[in-house]
Amino acid sequence: MIIVMQRDADEASVAAVEAKIRAHGLDVHISRGVERTLIGAIGDERKLDPEMFDPMPGVEKSMHIVKPYRLVAREWHKADTIVVAGGVPIGGNTVQIIAGPCSVETDAQMNAAADGVKAGGARLMRGGAFKPRTSPYAFQGKGVDGLKLLKDAAGRHRLPVVTELMDVRMLDAFLEHGVDVIQIGTRNMQNFDLLKAVGQVATPVILKRGMSATIAEWLMAAEYIAAGGNHNIIFCERGIRSFETAYRNVLDVTAIPVLKRETHLPVIVDPSHAGGKAWMVPALSLAAVAAGADGLLVEIHPNPVEAWCDADQALTPREFGVLMERIGQVARAVGREI
Ligand code: PEP
Ligand code: MN
Repeated sequence: MIIVMQRDADEASVAAVEAKIRAHGLDVHISRGVERTLIGAIGDERKLDPEMFDPMPGVEKSMHIVKPYRLVAREWHKADTIVVAGGVPIGGNTVQIIAGPCSVETDAQMNAAADGVKAGGARLMRGGAFKPRTSPYAFQGKGVDGLKLLKDAAGRHRLPVVTELMDVRMLDAFLEHGVDVIQIGTRNMQNFDLLKAVGQVATPVILKRGMSATIAEWLMAAEYIAAGGNHNIIFCERGIRSFETAYRNVLDVTAIPVLKRETHLPVIVDPSHAGGKAWMVPALSLAAVAAGADGLLVEIHPNPVEAWCDADQALTPREFGVLMERIGQVARAVGREI
């Protein structure tokens, strides 16, 4: 960390900053220029924060020089990490497709959806049993019964399952039901207690981007999970909030190469919650794969018009099958496969 002193900072202010750095166990290097004095803190600067120095007398500003995230940073781990999710490798040369309905509804709906997931060639199945709805009066999900329906339907095709965890108290039920991948949704990206809890287990975690989260905040959220010991983390870009009302969210395609540079962990894209309309899903899917995404999380439903949640953005199994062909073409064009 570097602390830049004000032009007229006196020796007592410099000494106070130096003492504070040393009190945290770091060394100090002072550089006295013509204009300014710069104080460098040498050592593990993650213990320090600009907030500790900015209010001190004589300090103009202070800043980190290394990134605040470490376990998830490519800076410290050059090679791509492959996260094995229910036996399926995510982050390697194969672009992995996860598909399924927004929410688990009925046995028949789940079985028909699972048939569509399998027929299309996806390798994992999604389905929300606990739904984070804007309205408390909207369908909230089938709860634990939904976990069972999801596992049973997916199990018929030996598909591992992905489902959203909203409440720490449900983690044991997720483990008991053999959830293969825990999804942390947009609304919980900075629910730090939830992040700490999933950091304590070995189950892979899909960490969706908060709807207004910066890349740095997202990486720090992942760092929370990794700091607990669970390094099986997959980032999922799902669109961010903007002023635009013509679509649900803006798919931040730029985030894909930026994240791939910043972290060694896999990066997938959810084109369904980005556009919010089924007809936008193909274009966004292809853009994501072309830009380097390691996978896609796509909502499909056997009968979208009747879906209990996110009806407008679900593809039919047939539409999904057509899209998978095109995803394969783009994947091969960029040297990957599906
Ligand atoms: C979902 O995947 O169904 C979901 C609620 O996603 P998000 O957290 O991205 O809104
Ligand atoms: Mn949804």
